[in-house]
Amino acid sequence: MNHKNFHLYINGEQVHTVHHIPVYHKYTGELIASISKAEKQHVKEAVSAAEKIFKSDKLTAYQRSNILSKAADLMEQRREDFEVSLVREVGKTRKDASGELDRTINTIRLSAEEAKRIAGEMIPLQATEGSDNRLGFTIRVPKGVIGVITPFNYPLLLGIHKIAPALAAGNTIVIKPATSTPLATFQLVELLEEAGLPKGYVNIITGTGSEVGEWLLEDERIAMYTFTGSGEVGKHIKERSGLRPVALELGNNSPNIVHNDADLELAAKLTASRSFHNAGQACIAVQRLYVHQSVLKEFTENYLSHVQQLIVGDPEKTETDVGPMISEKDAIRSEEWVKEAIEQGAKSLLPLKREGAVLYPVVLVDTNPAMKVVCKEVFAPIVCIIPYQDIEEAFHSANQSEYGLQAGIFTRDLQLAMRAAKVLEYGGVIINDVSTYRNDVMPYGGVKNSGLGKEGPHYAIQEMTDERMVVMNL
Ligand code: NAD
Repeated sequence: MNHKNFHLYINGEQVHTVHHIPVYHKYTGELIASISKAEKQHVKEAVSAAEKIFKSDKLTAYQRSNILSKAADLMEQRREDFEVSLVREVGKTRKDASGELDRTINTIRLSAEEAKRIAGEMIPLQATEGSDNRLGFTIRVPKGVIGVITPFNYPLLLGIHKIAPALAAGNTIVIKPATSTPLATFQLVELLEEAGLPKGYVNIITGTGSEVGEWLLEDERIAMYTFTGSGEVGKHIKERSGLRPVALELGNNSPNIVHNDADLELAAKLTASRSFHNAGQACIAVQRLYVHQSVLKEFTENYLSHVQQLIVGDPEKTETDVGPMISEKDAIRSEEWVKEAIEQGAKSLLPLKREGAVLYPVVLVDTNPAMKVVCKEVFAPIVCIIPYQDIEEAFHSANQSEYGLQAGIFTRDLQLAMRAAKVLEYGGVIINDVSTYRNDVMPYGGVKNSGLGKEGPHYAIQEMTDERMVVMNL
């Protein structure tokens, strides 16, 4: 396979570097590309370029919206190129890549619409004695240069959830994509510029998190960081950013409750498909399945029958449902967690099988809350089915987590559904669907160690703009 070197992209120019990092096909292991490894001065140059254009060039909201709309159209026309690239660099299946494309295009369109609706509000100053002649209102102003750091699992979608709202709001960007899946970002920025985005608005620096990421965190000219990734790095970014705001989308070990009055067929079908898509490498993938004891047998049989139909293997084949994990190392780590759980008393309902980076779906029972597969984020195709007798016990167990991103519950009881919405300590509670449900228009973000701030174009724009008070003495 021919491979290309992707150079740094600063102020609309490719910048060559001395050192490069290889990018591999995650299923075949073939070398598909290499990326430049930035030096410290490149990071400074990228921030300078973004700062310069932020201060000098002001696209109107109307122009920003048009550029984003055009980019969405172009992506629609080139979806095949984007999908193939995602399949290769992430190892995601054609089905998952297609889903990521749909959502990316939708998120660009939502951002294009939001660009036209950024408004402040009137403040009733006359409500206070002595302010009779004052007119008060707020305007929303872009923050400036936004530092974007993205993870490996949805390089296009999670990149666009940051880039499109940042641009819609009038900011400029320096992005550092994940080292193992950087290619989607290059394709995306090329497409944005073709859609009319002036050069310098989005600058790409690549390299390792521990070097290039750190240099990005050092640069005080960055007004805000928006990050999706692990809790460990997220906390570090918060510590390093001082008083500058951060938006952090971190991990989860999503609980999903199947109550005794649930539509079991629906619950089994949805939980089975959403436990293993993207090889379980989704922050809201179904991980802990709490099932009422009285329906445990029926649910489990139904669930397993769906899981057994999943086609595992080569992500390039259109019929494949579960492809490789991001690396063999990660698959081995996950398999070890499963083996450890089994040594501690858990049982696997399916044969434990791994071929290189492909870990076949794992369904565990007889786990306990201290096992890593339960209490940590597995980020792998592993699910634990855990019975409960009393719904309060299920709520309690679901909340026994350092995380709080999204949770799901299946029940036909409206009262119970509303109670779940109130007591589950999560950023989102999904009723009669899985924790994995995400519609890109919704506010999305976690509590506890799952992060800070909300995504979804409307909400991200609030985070990426400052509300400025204007008072006129008339
Ligand atoms: P990661 O934290 O290892 O890396 C994420 C990014 O941070 C990469 O670009 C990496 O190079 C960079 N980075 C690493 N060290 C850095 C440092 N010291 N300074 C600055 N940047 C640094 O995460 P990952 O393995 O790519 O992704 C998996 C994690 O992402 C999981 O924990 C998952 O739950 C989380 N995630 C969360 C969401 C969400 O929306 N909440 C979505 C997807 C993934």
